[in-house]
Amino acid sequence: MKVHHLNCGTFDSPLAGTIVCHALACETDNGIVLVDTGFGLADLADRSRRLGPLPRLMGAKFFESETAVRRLEGLGFATSDVTHIVATHLDFDHIGGAGDFPNATIHTTAVEDAAARARASASDKVRYRPAQQPPDSEMRTYSGPGEPLLGFPDAHRLDTIGDGFFLLPLPGHTKGHAAVAVDTGNGWLVHAGDAFYHHSVVAPPGVDSPGFQGRFMRVVEKVLADDRSRISENHRRLRELNTQQSSHVTVFCAHDRKQLEELQQRG
Ligand SMILES: [Zn+2]
Repeated sequence: MKVHHLNCGTFDSPLAGTIVCHALACETDNGIVLVDTGFGLADLADRSRRLGPLPRLMGAKFFESETAVRRLEGLGFATSDVTHIVATHLDFDHIGGAGDFPNATIHTTAVEDAAARARASASDKVRYRPAQQPPDSEMRTYSGPGEPLLGFPDAHRLDTIGDGFFLLPLPGHTKGHAAVAVDTGNGWLVHAGDAFYHHSVVAPPGVDSPGFQGRFMRVVEKVLADDRSRISENHRRLRELNTQQSSHVTVFCAHDRKQLEELQQRG
């Protein structure tokens, strides 16, 4: 499977530095499968209604050239080529681009879909933007027991997409957050969404210093988490997966620029 690593949104701020919105475009026999989407064209056209105040406060840059639809056009694909979108979660910087692909079915956990529709807490009202949420008819959600995969006991196999796509429930950042595992045929890619923010989290102990940016992003992670008590355990599981199975598993997050650039160079 050929996989393209795309940056579909950039944030720039003095303390956090430059962070990205890392999306995957996977070429499959059943069309293009996106994992996360960053911001979309409608977000750029109507920022205040679609996104609210938070992206601007976080230093969001809104470049049309970075939207998934424009990135894919640059690779020679049409919007109709995208048949499925797998969302790690439904925050504004992950689902915004979905509306640019009207033929796509959107996959996420049932818990995440319910949380995004309920917007029950003040923080959920900020993170989940009603104008971005896809209609029920385009959603496919997953719940209940799954199957063991990569150390996760209840992985959901996304069999309507075809072989090789799984949701690995990993709540904490949001109620129904999940990592997305893709079997490329040449190893596993695990897109961990916002389950961590800096590459040092999944490096072997002592190998990669977090530095100022890494330490700052851990503070941000706590502020943005729905359940901060889960953060450390999620980090441990992902670090273990990334270090102990590194010959065939690569774990990365949505917003780390270094990981994105390394995977783009790896091709
Ligand atoms: Zn995010």
